[in-house]
Formats: sequence, structure tokens, C-alpha cells
Amino acid sequence: MGITVFKCPYCKRIIEMTDGLQNRMKDIGTPLMKCPHCGGQFKTGAREWVDLPKSRKTEIWVKFHIVYGLVYGAILGLGAWAIIVEAIKLSKTLGTIIGSIVFLFLFYSMHKAYKNQINESLERKPNSNIIPYNTKS
Ligand SMILES: [Zn+2]
Repeated sequence: MGITVFKCPYCKRIIEMTDGLQNRMKDIGTPLMKCPHCGGQFKTGAREWVDLPKSRKTEIWVKFHIVYGLVYGAILGLGAWAIIVEAIKLSKTLGTIIGSIVFLFLFYSMHKAYKNQINESLERKPNSNIIPYNTKS
């Protein structure tokens, strides 16, 4: 559990943020942060979903579904298959079933995470005048 630290460009004071917000900001997030000390607004480098260019939206879709979903899903699915068939010596049918469940579960989780990021962004965007911020001061 770490904390991300921003420095306010106006009052130069330190703004600490929890990991949760920082993770969301990697792809989709609030473009402006409001300093809790002086109220100054500054850019975070992130953009809300509706403001992202189509190419970036495609990139994020690919990242969640292909990179995380398919690749990690396949690795974990095959891992589960190997454990069941090779290590525990159960039937290949059982290995295939459980491997597939692991794969589908991971793929679905990634798809859900992708949807959640967009939904959260869409909830924020209509209220873009109210700048959300998480601080531990
Ligand atoms: Zn400030």
C-alpha cells in the first residue's frame, strides 16, 4: 500500500493520494485535480473516457482484453491445467474444464475492470465542474 505524491504547482505543498486513485489515473481519470490546500487546479495527465481519442480507447480495450484477458488468462489457465494433470495427476478432461474456467474467469474479470473504469469515468464526466480528490492530510 503506497501513496502517490503530487506537488501543487501553485502553493508547492505536497498532496498525497491513495493507490486506488493513482491506479485509475493510469488510463482513465480526472484530467484536473484540485489542490486541497490552496484550491488551485492542475492537470493530472489523465483524461476522462469521453475525452479520449478513438485510438487511445482502442488501445485500452486491447490492453484489457488481449494483453490482460487473453495472455494472462491463457497463462493461468495452462498453469491450472498443468497443476491438475501433471502435478496432481487427475484426468485431462478435468484439467481442461478447470483450466477453461480459470481462463474465462480471468478474462471476465478484466472485461469487468475495463467496464468499471469507463463507468466511473462516465459518472465523473457530467460533474466535471466538481473535481474529485482523495487526500490523506
Ligand atoms: Zn496548492
